Parts: sequence; structure tokens; C-alpha cells
Amino acid sequence: LFNFKITLGKNGVPVAENFRLEQSTIADTVQAGQVRVKTLYLSVDPYMRCRMNEDTGSDYLRPWQLSEVADGGGIGVVEESKHDNLSKGDFVTSFTWPWQTVAILDGSLLQKLVPQLVNGRLSYFLGAAGITGLTALLGIREKGHVAAGANQTMVVSGAAGACGSLAGQIGRLEGCSRVVGIAGTDEKCSILTQEMGFDAAINYKKEDVAKQLRELCPGGVDVYFDNVGGDISDTVISQMNQNSHIILCGQISQYNKDVPYPPPLPADIEKIQKERNITRERFLVLNYMDKQEASVLQLCQWIQEGKLKVRETVVEGLANIGAAFQSMMNGGNIGKQIVSVSK
Ligand code: NAP
Repeated sequence: LFNFKITLGKNGVPVAENFRLEQSTIADTVQAGQVRVKTLYLSVDPYMRCRMNEDTGSDYLRPWQLSEVADGGGIGVVEESKHDNLSKGDFVTSFTWPWQTVAILDGSLLQKLVPQLVNGRLSYFLGAAGITGLTALLGIREKGHVAAGANQTMVVSGAAGACGSLAGQIGRLEGCSRVVGIAGTDEKCSILTQEMGFDAAINYKKEDVAKQLRELCPGGVDVYFDNVGGDISDTVISQMNQNSHIILCGQISQYNKDVPYPPPLPADIEKIQKERNITRERFLVLNYMDKQEASVLQLCQWIQEGKLKVRETVVEGLANIGAAFQSMMNGGNIGKQIVSVSK
């Protein structure tokens, strides 16, 4: 068994060395109600940055403890079961999967997966057919006020990432007439326009975002799917229309800083937001889990129909999970960052 133990201080930029790989043994007996699983895929996500602080800043996130095994979204296969509803060979998932190659888990905490729903691409259940897809879909449906035929323009920041790449496509499927993405490389921008159906994309590291937005969104911005916060969001909000809507998905540009969530807007931007009656309500996907089942089926249907294009960046091996997390936080991923632990 290999597992990870974290060693991080309170604030600052995460580095691969914050994680340590250790070899140890697990119990050799599986108790009633438990299963022994082999880990297949693990997810690394921006919220984990908050779990590296002593105080995560949110009541629903437990901080990772120094020298404890880290955990997060994971998928595995049951190798031995003493749980009534799970059998050897079942594929299962959990939000609190330990970063280990094998584990003994409480069967009642696991959800069974149906691989056929994602054409056998199991890792999609950590991304497009999992929390990431749900975040994009439910963020738009709950906070976006998108209406077919309303001729709305949507802007997505963090657009080539896991949530962002889906959000732009779902915005279109739900009825937006124009979708513009903002991302960190030319390669990401061309994937957005050539593969994912975005009308245009802006490389925020090279281009003048305000100028590009004025050209690309001549009617202003009606819906803003915000993954990043900070300067990019201030620029977008400045070009939003009266009675428009921000989907406050995340603020990754602020996660290495010691600021409250959601970070307050600068005074001049807040004034614009108030004067133009732009909504900016907190959105947390975990508050909408009553809609999980129907929404996952919708996402799987779009994937099967080819209406939702999915990209993943896969790193092989548990030993590289710290590096994969760090890379994702720095923009190294296109689509969902996945760690493939074993075949
Ligand atoms: P992701 O977008 O796949 O990966 C993070 C991306 O953020 C990187 O690829 C990078 O792309 C971009 N980034 C990093 N630092 C940045 C900065 N300073 N300014 C602008 N962009 C930056 O990650 P994800 O899992 O899909 O998460 C996206 C957002 O959704 C995060 O804010 C996350 O917290 C949020 N989220 C919210 C919920 C919810 O319930 N509200 C659920 C899941 C995720 P570039 O190359 O473009 O910089």
C-alpha cells in the first residue's frame, strides 16, 4: 500500500514536496459492512488548496491534517466485499477516497457506478459525469437565468479547465446565443473554439482582456460563469449588462491568499454590480445534491450524444499526485486533471 501524507504550512503556493509518499500495510481482514478496494482514479481539485490550510475557511471542508493520509474524489474496484449491496468487481466512488493504492472502506459510504453511462470512460465520473459536470450544469441552472431564445452572451473564465470547458458548452445547450471563454494559453483558446464550440476565446496572459471583450461581446455580457475572481472578473463585471448574472463558481486566483470566501469586490466594481443590479450569489454544488441523479443522467446523455466534448489531462501513478495537484493549480491541465493510480 502506498499513501500520501501532507506537510504544508498555513498559506502560500503549494508545491509537489508538500506531499510525501509512504509505504505501509493495511489490515488483512475485511469487517462486516466493509469492502477492500483497489484505487483506479483520483481527482485533484482547487478546493483542496483550502484543505491545506489549518482553517479551511468553510464549514463543509475539513482541513487535511499534517502526516495524515489525504483524501478526495476517487474511483476504484471492489476486490473483496462484506457489504450486502456490493460485490467483487463493482466499480465504486466516494468524495472522501483516501490517497492509497488499496483501502478498506465502509461500503455504505460508496456509490456504485454504471460504466455504460459514460461509454466505459470511468474517470468521467470524477469530471464531466461527476461533481465537475454537476457544478457546471447546476451553476448555470440555479444561478445563470439562461433562457432559450433570449439572445444572451455568456463569458466563462477558467474556460479550458474542468468546470469551465463544460460550462461554456452547457451554456450553449441551455440556450445562450454567444459563448466566449477566457483561458491561459493559445492552445487552450484554440481547443475552446475548434473543439468545444465556443464562439471566441481570449488568452488573458497575452491579450488585453477588456479590449477583446468589448470586441467579442458587442451587446455586453448577460451571464458570467466565474471560476477565477480577481482582475479578470473585475474586467468582465465592468462589461456586464443591467440585470445580468454572475455564476460565482470559484475564485481560484485568490486561493493562495488569506482572504475570506467569496472575496469582496473592489469598491468601484461593487458599485457597478449594485448599480446594474448584477446578481452574485454564492453557489455551492453540494447544496443541490437532491438534483444529482437526474443531472448526472442528463450529462451522460449529452456525452453519449456527442453534445458535450470532454477533455482530460491524465497523470500516471500515485507518486505523482502532488505534482498533478500543483500543475492543475498552475494551469497545466486542459479539461479535468485526473490521476490514474492503477489499471
Ligand atoms: P480547473 O479549471 O480544471 O483547473 C484550474 C485552472 O484555473 C487552471 O487550469 C488555470 O487555467 C486556472 N487558473 C489558475 N490560477 C489562475 C489565476 N490566477 N487566474 C486565472 N486562472 C487561473 O479546476 P476546476 O476543478 O474546474 O475548478 C474551477 C473552479 O471551480 C475553481 O475555482 C473551483 O474552486 C470551482 N469549483 C466550485 C464548485 C462549487 O460548488 N461552487 C465545485 C467545483 C469547483 P489557465 O491556464 O486558464 O490559467
